[in-house]
Amino acid sequence: MTRTNLFVDVVLSALSIVKGLMVTLTNALRPRVTRNHPFQKTPIPEVWRGRLVHLRGEDGRLRCTACLACQKACPSHAIPTIQGDDKKGKEKRAQVYVWDASRCLFCGLCVEACPFDAIRLTREYSIVGEDRADLIFDLNRLLGPAEGETA
Ligand code: SF4
Ligand code: SF4
Repeated sequence: MTRTNLFVDVVLSALSIVKGLMVTLTNALRPRVTRNHPFQKTPIPEVWRGRLVHLRGEDGRLRCTACLACQKACPSHAIPTIQGDDKKGKEKRAQVYVWDASRCLFCGLCVEACPFDAIRLTREYSIVGEDRADLIFDLNRLLGPAEGETA
């Protein structure tokens, strides 16, 4: 190898190192796109469909009358159990309501089917657990805010 070739090689190598460092520097100075979840919450679109909640009316009572319309509308059997009290018609109230988040498609058909506006899919996306049983929600866990409060 001649001296000229050696010199060209050294210059080219140095240039490629500088080029690589420029790429690293450019990316290091870019705004971060990752978030420190769960301490930093990701903005969720208004139309996001997340965790199901049950709503209460102005009187503080559950709106759900255990009419089963949501259960029938659900395409994935994510609402396996609904049981009401002994009352009749609109006075009846759900006593048992089970939502299985592990089966839910978050399609919103149950909310659309409900004639009493008793349920809503919130924007809560952090539905996690260490066991499948953690994703089974009973009425206590499903209780959302009273009318006027935000979910
Ligand atoms: S959102 Fe869809 S899949 Fe989930 S419970 Fe409602 S109807 Fe069923
Ligand atoms: S949530 Fe609505 S549709 Fe489902 S059982 Fe209750 S009242 Fe009926």
